[in-house]
Amino acid sequence: MNETHVLKAWGLILRGYQPVLSVEITNRCPLSCPGCYAYQPNHVGGTALERIAEYTGQDLVAGILGLVARRRPLLVFLVGGEPLVRYRELSILLPQLCSKGVYVEVVTSAVRAIPVEWCQLQKLKIVVSIDGLQPEHDVRRKPATYERILANIEGRRIVVHCTVTGQMARRPGYVEEFIDFWSRRPEVYSIRMSLFTPQVGEVREEVLSPEDRRRVVGELDRLRENYDKIRLTTKMLDAYLKPPASPDHCIFSKVTGCVSSDLKSIVLPCQFGGTPDCSQCGCVATMGLDALGRVTLARLRLASIFAASFRIGSLVSRVRQALSWTSSPLETLPGDSVPTESD
Ligand code: SF4
Ligand code: SF4
Repeated sequence: MNETHVLKAWGLILRGYQPVLSVEITNRCPLSCPGCYAYQPNHVGGTALERIAEYTGQDLVAGILGLVARRRPLLVFLVGGEPLVRYRELSILLPQLCSKGVYVEVVTSAVRAIPVEWCQLQKLKIVVSIDGLQPEHDVRRKPATYERILANIEGRRIVVHCTVTGQMARRPGYVEEFIDFWSRRPEVYSIRMSLFTPQVGEVREEVLSPEDRRRVVGELDRLRENYDKIRLTTKMLDAYLKPPASPDHCIFSKVTGCVSSDLKSIVLPCQFGGTPDCSQCGCVATMGLDALGRVTLARLRLASIFAASFRIGSLVSRVRQALSWTSSPLETLPGDSVPTESD
């Protein structure tokens, strides 16, 4: 993210729009990863993703283009379920989104081959989730095994995204071995590291203890010196150790509108849905924006400037909706709990 992007995002916030849109483009996934938040029974409005309707074909393409036209995001995350279930639709949609100047990230397990032509799209990032070294990953994420991923990304350019679990954190040297393996792959130009984010009260092996968290963050701090594909700032590392206190304090959740596969249900309070435990949040995007909020400008933290801007934007959006100037672009104002879009 550069200064121009920050200024554009700020302008959108002031006008009552959320600069980031995350869309669960399908409710289907051939994987069944332990700890997957999308298939939690209360993921969206008390319902699991597989019970939400979905669109296919031209309806899906038109539906997402319509959402983008109304919400005007700078960046769109296409998530699932597994987005590659809808690879035909994506092959039509992605060039259209990119040609409109929208940055797009497709977050996938790479369970099937990534179409080669997608790599020609300058504004597209393909983010492949790889959770651990082969023995553990293959158990957690079959049928998207290492063998399959390596075949499906051959000749492509991808970002690797890893969610560090408690099991990984507790094995000395594991994180370094993972980063070393993927840093050497020519297809990989960046590696993102998240920490497992549980729901409130969730007890499972994936959850990191405070000690696990400190150890992993210390290791990432050391590794960033030697591996230039992990781009972590000191402020981001600080954010992993002290995540936003609540959705209200989370810049990422405020700037991101999350829409489920029926293209109208809103996932609240953030992409995790349900009741995520902010005090244990480990989402790399959240940490990136939290780090930005820690930057000081004229003795004011950017987080305070953003908070004031969200309030103004919220007001502007309400006035616009009341006067019906447009077709309600920001249905979920920061702090609202509106469950569905009004159109
Ligand atoms: S690939 Fe993603 S959506 Fe599918 S089960 Fe795994 S975590 Fe959930
Ligand atoms: S769980 Fe993380 S991303 Fe979600 S609202 Fe809390 S801090 Fe933000």
